[in-house]
Amino acid sequence: MWLLLVTALAGKVAAVLISSSSPATALVLWFGPDALLAYHLFVPRAQGLVRMQRRFKTAHREVWLTIDDGPDPEDTPRILALLAAHDARATFFVIGEIAARHPALLQSIAAAGHEVAHHTHTHPLASFWCASPASVQRELDAGLAALRAGGVRPTRFRPPAGIKSLWLASALRARGLACIGWSARGLERRPGDAEAVAVRATRDLAPGAILLLHEGPRIPAAIRVDAIRRVLERLRALGYRCVVPCADPLKEPPAR
Ligand SMILES: [Zn+2]
Repeated sequence: MWLLLVTALAGKVAAVLISSSSPATALVLWFGPDALLAYHLFVPRAQGLVRMQRRFKTAHREVWLTIDDGPDPEDTPRILALLAAHDARATFFVIGEIAARHPALLQSIAAAGHEVAHHTHTHPLASFWCASPASVQRELDAGLAALRAGGVRPTRFRPPAGIKSLWLASALRARGLACIGWSARGLERRPGDAEAVAVRATRDLAPGAILLLHEGPRIPAAIRVDAIRRVLERLRALGYRCVVPCADPLKEPPAR
């Protein structure tokens, strides 16, 4: 992170120094490092600010199904029934303030053998990239408190839409949280039906893939849950099992 910030600052100083003799080069020096910083903030696969796991190691036909933005009183029970019918395991990246309203859903997820993980407290999609260190810490700690009140101690975190912040890496480290990305996603709000979502989520499938799907009211009604059902059916037809990989022998998160 500091390397990116120092590079950006040095670029601006150099741009000012040479602006009168070489304005074109000055423009590149002024904006180039900003573009690099934006890339590492906004592009989910970029690893410069936070290392985000995008695949897991396996010697078998196994994938990791992850479901974001719940829990949801309508969708979660139906998804749990689908997972049980397919003998599949999944990780639910839940939003803290929603989880606080539905602690019983967290317990249902965990009791069925799935993982509950952290997806911020309020899902600040538009502002997370520029959140202050205190805001990032509040998002993490309020979410942790909500999950712990529901009996869950998460070890994994996913930022909203994979957007990072300058202060995220150190805040995650201090709380023993690993950052988890994805290798394919359903993009449920793009035009298309549930089948199109399932095709996107299972495109370029390979052992160790991490699939990202969503639950909840922000998903179009015709796609909610049905896309996950179709993904599970496609995976079964292709001979893949849904597993939740073991966390790194990652120490119990420090008590806060
Ligand atoms: Zn989300």
